[in-house]
Amino acid sequence: MEARKNILSAIQPTGDIHLGNYFGAVKNWVQLQADYNCAFGVVNYHSMTVPYKSAQLQERTWRMAFLLMACGIEAESIFLQSLIPEHTELSWILACNCSYGELQRMTQFKDKTDQLKETDKEAFISAGLYLYPVLQAADILMYHADYVPVGKDQEQHLELSRNIAQRFNHLFGKPYFKHPEPLFTELPKVLSTADPSRKMSKSLGEKHYISLLAEDARVQKQIRSAVTDTGESASNEMSAGVKNLFELLKACGNMDAHEELLADYQKGELKYVALKDAVSTAIINEITPIRERFNEINSQKKIYKQMLQESSATIRKRAQQTLYEVKEICGLPKLKLK
Ligand code: ADP
Repeated sequence: MEARKNILSAIQPTGDIHLGNYFGAVKNWVQLQADYNCAFGVVNYHSMTVPYKSAQLQERTWRMAFLLMACGIEAESIFLQSLIPEHTELSWILACNCSYGELQRMTQFKDKTDQLKETDKEAFISAGLYLYPVLQAADILMYHADYVPVGKDQEQHLELSRNIAQRFNHLFGKPYFKHPEPLFTELPKVLSTADPSRKMSKSLGEKHYISLLAEDARVQKQIRSAVTDTGESASNEMSAGVKNLFELLKACGNMDAHEELLADYQKGELKYVALKDAVSTAIINEITPIRERFNEINSQKKIYKQMLQESSATIRKRAQQTLYEVKEICGLPKLKLK
């Protein structure tokens, strides 16, 4: 029998999971567990690339792991990045196999820099933010991932991971690293309901994302105030905001309502309030069980923290094996594996 293919993906503990993360990535992770050898990281080293508070990072790291479990990810597949120091070690080795020019072309660095400067002209832009895609390449290549289920916003970073792998293999004359492929969901990019010209994201501020832990009233409020028409699309074209609402309805699996409302739209009879009501009901139905499971897990923190420490230690063994082999290939002395 052929060995199971490897899957690696990760999420930053910069706040709670939002619908963009969920429909673009996490919901898919849950389904992939049955057929692949999966590892999912809570990548807290990545969250240090932009200004943060230490107590908040600690709290958010655990919370994110609990939230992943509440979504249906098994504890054995979850690791906390900072418990596996090999990630930063491999990241350095890979940084030496990645050109400065390649990193300069990463659009997310520019976007995040602009965002930081939007709120603070004198914002501190760390070298870590610039090197972020290399750490991400280390996360992925460490576990010899065949596939990386991510949102569309990560496509360029994944291509960089492939280039780094290729260069490393070429330089050392050995096909060591795999070339990871992205796995997109049917809805690879969820837009902000407050500004459908931008992706839903935590870093844009509260009104730009809907958390999986949002109370019903908050979901209703955010969807009710969703921008439907920015006046930018041609009159015969569906606006980005309305399309986003239809996509959310579909992502929640509410196909009957989707079909019915789309037929109304095509006849020119759609009432936005009906679409919005259907979307908020569908979202509430989708996230309520997650919130309930999260509350259960969160009330037994100690047990679940212990579980996550153990799963991280087990997953770390794979990372240690990779580093051992990489050091051998690069000509670095190494300690014997225990
Ligand atoms: P954020 O961009 O909110 O800081 P992360 O960088 O931690 O979130 O992303 C975690 C996962 O969620 C990644 O796979 C990313 O591609 C996906 N993702 C983030 N935002 C969106 C979105 N708006 N639509 C679809 N997928 C998204």
